Amino acid sequence: MTNIICRSTAFAASMVLMSGTAWAAAGGPLPGEGLSQSYRESQMDNVEYQKVEPIKMADNLFYVGPGYVSVYLITTPEGHILIDASEDPYVDHVLGNIQQVGFDPADIEYIIISHGHLDHFGGVAAIQDLSGAQVGAAAEDWILIEERSQQEGRNQGPPPRMPRKDFVIEQGDTIALGGQTLNLHVTPGHTAGVMSVDFTVYDNGTPHKAFFSGGTGGRGGVLNELAVESTSRVLEIEDIEMFLPNHAWNAGNPYPNGSIFERALRVSDGQPNPFVDGAAWGEWITKAHQRNVDRLAQDRAEAGIQ
Ligand SMILES: [Zn+2]
Repeated sequence: MTNIICRSTAFAASMVLMSGTAWAAAGGPLPGEGLSQSYRESQMDNVEYQKVEPIKMADNLFYVGPGYVSVYLITTPEGHILIDASEDPYVDHVLGNIQQVGFDPADIEYIIISHGHLDHFGGVAAIQDLSGAQVGAAAEDWILIEERSQQEGRNQGPPPRMPRKDFVIEQGDTIALGGQTLNLHVTPGHTAGVMSVDFTVYDNGTPHKAFFSGGTGGRGGVLNELAVESTSRVLEIEDIEMFLPNHAWNAGNPYPNGSIFERALRVSDGQPNPFVDGAAWGEWITKAHQRNVDRLAQDRAEAGIQ
């Protein structure tokens, strides 16, 4: 596969050899911190560090987000599909990444929103404006998006813009475009209307099933019950070989053998695609489900329910 690897990621990796002090000054993982982890933790507010180069994960799939939150571009001959859009100040960076991998943001036909948290949907309205893309989210999270769009933005900024609500995603819906079919799943837990997707990616023409998770862990109360039900359904989806996390780093259940940025460093012409790893997926989703089961059991014990 063509190696469109991040300049800043390669830079960050080489910096691992430096001492902790020099490292922190330059921007990079703290000692003991992983690369994917650094985007979400020590370097969370380091805007320039977040602007990672796009990553070609498969013939028809590109990571185009900043480092701390995922944005995926699925390309087809008849237009493209964007999963999430991140938020300002990274929207121009996402658009630049799309152009850098050879596509025109104006050709985005659909934007699907994983859930109604600002880091995932904040940039959607701007990209919808310039592309005319149809935007969808699950019903429960359209409510969250509407509510969030009436509150002030990050750092007391103006409220985020509400995207035009074009469609409501329901469990089992599909999006067909340019010979590609996306199977949409509503997997509540992280919020009441998390959206996840499975679809086929091609690695030098060889098909593999990919799964984008919009979020897995419950956030208390009824969401913990829904999370168990959601991960039990996701566990039943067979033959997943490529995992697309909604954040490259999720504390508590890191992806085995490295996440997006660790794997991006292993991309090498003529070598197996490091993002194709069904074993890591199996291990991760089994653990994610068990965490949900354990959390619910703990809730019930605390509530005195046998
Ligand atoms: Zn979230």
